[in-house]
Amino acid sequence: MRIVIKIGTSTLAHPTGHLNIRRVEELTKVICDIINAGNQIIMVSSGAIGMGVGKLGLPTRPTDIPTKQAAAAVGQCELMYTYDKLFLQYHHTVAQLLITADDVRDPVRHDNFRNTIYRLLELGALPIINENDTVATDELGIGDNDTLAAMVAQSVQADKLVLLSDIDGLYTADPHEDPDARLLPVVNRVDDALLSLAGGSSTAQGTGGMVTKLRAAKICLSCGCDMIITNGNDPMVLYRIVDGEQVGTTFTENAYV
Ligand code: GLU
Repeated sequence: MRIVIKIGTSTLAHPTGHLNIRRVEELTKVICDIINAGNQIIMVSSGAIGMGVGKLGLPTRPTDIPTKQAAAAVGQCELMYTYDKLFLQYHHTVAQLLITADDVRDPVRHDNFRNTIYRLLELGALPIINENDTVATDELGIGDNDTLAAMVAQSVQADKLVLLSDIDGLYTADPHEDPDARLLPVVNRVDDALLSLAGGSSTAQGTGGMVTKLRAAKICLSCGCDMIITNGNDPMVLYRIVDGEQVGTTFTENAYV
């Protein structure tokens, strides 16, 4: 199975901006084991800006573009250094791919990007992708890693895209505010009624929220890739997803039993 796993900042870092060491160590171990079992994994990892904020000692996540880009430049090094060290413990080699909207939209660049991923997989390396935040501004960039991950899943014809987030899935209402909110286990269509359920960003650390996740689901549904939104607080959930169990919210063309 070929699976794209998107890891949100809230899964990787504590609210302080510093690395959630236990979480990332568990995640690394589970991903290595899933690869060892014969699956192909491509990671899309956020956290560059969040970790840059922690490393530079900034009081909060910046809102202006130059400081965001500076934080991303610092944090991306920290992020890859951490992944490199942790994955190496299980003898896996990581590869960094920083892309922009043009790399997906321009057919030649898109081909190059995709061929690099395929070659890395053949060579047994683990591609870890992020948006190239230092050159992608809000106006020109893809803007969020949920959409980026869906574009990657579409490009490489992934079987599944897993969005690891700080929320269990898509609810009928905001579960932080409405005690009657119900988790939707399976969604077959992203329409206006569903989009109206999506609030803004659920975290002060990351960029995405339900809106970007539903945009990603639309891309996945259009190309026959199942997309799962689930809570990243327990990395063991990835085993259940590989085994075909239904967790969180699954967006699929198929009826799930
Ligand atoms: N590229 C951003 C980062 O690494 C994250 C974007 C997102 O969270 O969607 O910090």
